[in-house]
Amino acid sequence: MDLFSHPCPCCGNNEIRPHTRYKTQAYGDRTIYHCLECDSYFSETFATPISGLTTPLSRIITILKARSEGMSLNATSRAHNVSKKSVIDWERRLGGLKPILMLYSLLHQFIHQEIEGDELYTKVDKNKPPSDSQGWTIVLMERGSRFLWELHCGRKDQQLFNQALACLAQVIEQTDSLSLFTDGERRYGNLLFEICHEVIRNGKPGRPLKRLPKGVRVRLKNKGSKKRPGRQRQKYQAPVPEHPQTVHQVTQQEIHANHLEAFNASMRRRNAAFRRKTNTYAKSRGNLQRTLDVFWLVHNFVRIHFTTKVVPAVKLGILETGLFWSQLLTMRYAI
Ligand SMILES: [Zn+2]
Repeated sequence: MDLFSHPCPCCGNNEIRPHTRYKTQAYGDRTIYHCLECDSYFSETFATPISGLTTPLSRIITILKARSEGMSLNATSRAHNVSKKSVIDWERRLGGLKPILMLYSLLHQFIHQEIEGDELYTKVDKNKPPSDSQGWTIVLMERGSRFLWELHCGRKDQQLFNQALACLAQVIEQTDSLSLFTDGERRYGNLLFEICHEVIRNGKPGRPLKRLPKGVRVRLKNKGSKKRPGRQRQKYQAPVPEHPQTVHQVTQQEIHANHLEAFNASMRRRNAAFRRKTNTYAKSRGNLQRTLDVFWLVHNFVRIHFTTKVVPAVKLGILETGLFWSQLLTMRYAI
């Protein structure tokens, strides 16, 4: 799978040749290609985020960059003299690339991953009690590379967790050995166990045992693990049974979700919808998810991480170099 190839959109053939050039108002010359196989004609920007746009690419990039460094929608619109509608439209177009880049990421094989999971809260629409709010975001981050596998918001209910853990199950399929660390809910372990488990027939009488797939571990913080007289609990526990061939030892130092705590701070700084002490926030779940999709793309594939000094997708071994904004905006939605 080549992210930057532009084969014929009709038949997928690579045998295409430039047909004519045409002038655009802001981008200069563009090429119309002709497919020799199926005799169709298409523009070089066909099915990319910038197809049909007339604003110069450099201006779109400047504005989206400002947004992804934490500028709110209103502030961006005032500072850059652009309508909010345009910014929202560009963000939607950019966010549309998420499925293709997720698919691309899941084509790789990984030896070992350590994943931290947590939920992040912000206000959506009117002030509601957190249990009714759609402002919960589940984050699943690979620790060493800071790659975000999951970033979805909604009501903190079964569906949100199911979605996140279905994503994790796909990652597990591509990974030899995986540990999930979370300070959050017990549901992570239980639901993951429901979604992916192996049935082990060991020849003993009775019902065959259900275990997590080989190589998968879950460690959960014991809430309220303060010292109680007479009994001292472990700080972390393994909430669901593991495969007998999994190496069970995980050192105490390894079990934490500290990188995610740091990430949460970065998210509050960089995504205006998460900023406290303002009344910007997000108007609806869909709007919040739009900003999260852009955040996911920029964080994983474009921005060099402050600590690791590389783009997370590079550190994880998915890409050789990070993507430029211009590459992202001219990538096809489907390949
Ligand atoms: Zn064709």
